[in-house]
Amino acid sequence: MTTLKDLIRLVKELPEDSFEQAFGLMNSMKEAAEQVCATAPVLCVHCNKKAVKNGKKDNIQQYLCKSCGKSFSQRATNQPISQLHQRA
Ligand SMILES: [Zn+2]
Repeated sequence: MTTLKDLIRLVKELPEDSFEQAFGLMNSMKEAAEQVCATAPVLCVHCNKKAVKNGKKDNIQQYLCKSCGKSFSQRATNQPISQLHQRA
């Protein structure tokens, strides 16, 4: 398996004219990841089921779980990185 360390080493070994191409590829990967984050459903921190937006409190998005009825704030969801890891 290729690790991030391997990838960084490979990128460093690239000839200069391939650098721009590699950066372009990484940029499009980043954009794709951001799109996934924007559309990923928020999961309940209590039961891991899908939750819905439930207004804002002190400018922090609140969510309500339809399954267990509990509410939680965006800060508790660890969004968006944890969602990406769950999808891998
Ligand atoms: Zn729940």
